[in-house]
Amino acid sequence: MSPLHYRIEPAEPAAHRFHVALTIQAPDPSGQWLALPAWIPGSYLVRDFARHVLTLSAEAAGQAVAVEQVDKDRWRVEPVDGPLTVMMEVHAYDTSVRTAYLDTERGFFNATSLCLRVIGQEHLPCTVDLIAPDAAAVTGNWRVATSMRPVEAEPWGFGRYGCEHYDELIDHPVELGVFDVVEFEAGGRPHAIANTAAGRYDAEALASDVARICDAQVALFGELPCDRYLFLNNVSADGYGGLEHRYSSALAAPRRAMPDGSGRRSDDYVNFLGLVSHEYFHLWNVRRLMPAAVAHSDLESAAYFDDLWAYEGITSYYDDLGLLRAGVIDSARYLDLLAKQMTRLERNPGRYRQSLAESSRLAWTKFYQQDASAANAIVSYYNKGALVACALDLTLRRETDDQCSLDHVMRELWTRYGRAMKPIPDAAIEQVAAEVSGLDLSDFFDAMIRTPGEVPLPDLLADFGVEATCRPAAGPDDAGGRQPGEAPSSRCRTGLNARGQRQPRLINVLDDSPAQQAGLAPGDRLVAIDHEEATPAVIKAVEQRRVAGETVAVHVIRGDRLLERQLTLGDAEPNTWTLTLAESSSEDAHARRSAWLRTSAAPGE
Ligand SMILES: [Zn+2]
Repeated sequence: MSPLHYRIEPAEPAAHRFHVALTIQAPDPSGQWLALPAWIPGSYLVRDFARHVLTLSAEAAGQAVAVEQVDKDRWRVEPVDGPLTVMMEVHAYDTSVRTAYLDTERGFFNATSLCLRVIGQEHLPCTVDLIAPDAAAVTGNWRVATSMRPVEAEPWGFGRYGCEHYDELIDHPVELGVFDVVEFEAGGRPHAIANTAAGRYDAEALASDVARICDAQVALFGELPCDRYLFLNNVSADGYGGLEHRYSSALAAPRRAMPDGSGRRSDDYVNFLGLVSHEYFHLWNVRRLMPAAVAHSDLESAAYFDDLWAYEGITSYYDDLGLLRAGVIDSARYLDLLAKQMTRLERNPGRYRQSLAESSRLAWTKFYQQDASAANAIVSYYNKGALVACALDLTLRRETDDQCSLDHVMRELWTRYGRAMKPIPDAAIEQVAAEVSGLDLSDFFDAMIRTPGEVPLPDLLADFGVEATCRPAAGPDDAGGRQPGEAPSSRCRTGLNARGQRQPRLINVLDDSPAQQAGLAPGDRLVAIDHEEATPAVIKAVEQRRVAGETVAVHVIRGDRLLERQLTLGDAEPNTWTLTLAESSSEDAHARRSAWLRTSAAPGE
């Protein structure tokens, strides 16, 4: 018997309850402390998973043992002789990739939600029995998808699995239910995607595209540090997100993003491939190249570090670049994705208030708990982080005559820290970048990381034969990049950033915008503009047909009150970037561009 054994049963699917039993062979003789983590690595929000525990009891040698819940996350069990078993009922009804879910259609969990940490025994190996649900209680023939190592279980089967220690246990999410499996090889190792509720899609195209993306990321680091890899992909109407692990990742994707078999890669599908590329890149950057604050955390309270931009931003830079390197998109389409990142930052006045270091450190409250002020107050370490990573890459390439790039920095970080999973202290990336390139980058990092403000990408891009143009948006859907056909630009600005078809809701109100000057607020529901029912098309028509200085009447509902405001239209604002390959660039710029935007495979467009 393993020192620690978990028995996990999707016992009450209709009530969304897992039953979990933990047996500890040698509990602490002075009384065993137990805990559930307050947060899960990769998602920087205190979630207090213990709040979903409905009941917790203990027994030893067939006798009940007293348990006290000491605080919101911890319990203490009375001293006992010999093995101790702790039983829990846990409510699981959250579709997020960070928590746990159970109904009659599927189950999913991270062990952070279901498996108690045995204080003092975190380093010991454990076994996990995954029990099949009562067939009459669920729909279809359920199987198991997890990267956890089977001890006594058929592939994709219920049975016994095992982990070397608690940190490994919480790194293998588990999907239970009906899914189809797409298998392929990358980096010479078996990979699979388990798609739940995906409907009909082109499995061959998916396998081929994802394999190429994985191969491109393996090529960057020079080695794949795992013997297998699994994507768990839960498909729904509008889900989107992912959580990274060392041997797998849990994804949520919208059904329209699955490849349709037309051979054309839709924007939704390319976004999904970007998510796949992002989570896969994390198997190196953040799961093995680990920030020290996370590596040393007991997950009971928040871990603070200033480098989150490097883990999420660099990963966000390489996720789309990986699609280009894999030949899944061409360079024009890659530049559209980069232009969208630039547009997002351009429309985020919070970049003048918050630095990337602050954004990283305060992710717990400011980024993960955004309020109505977010667009004006904070900057995203994903968005600005990706653009700073791009600026760093281009700076290294230009200043070293292409002798050094961000690729070299990542490989050196991998050699020094990642391969041995040695925790990385704050700012080590800055030091390694300077050492590898031989450049003094202190001004660059001070300006980019520790000071709020712009990223000087347009100038850098010009040296790479890429022309950056900033123009007014062509409409509410224009997120940047090339527009199809001759889309007319807006002639004026309302500042009405709204979501929804009927009574669209203001998602933010930017500082100094016409909407703010008219006294409109985030959350207001737009009823009418100039007495015409407000829809996205009506907002677009106003911005394309009216001119700055004119006034329109706006009716909104705030709370339960109907308000009328006069909105004076502002000048159309150039806040939307387009990037194009400059035709008349110098030979040097052309050579730099070819090296930067190289594709390792023939474009499959
Ligand atoms: Zn990420």
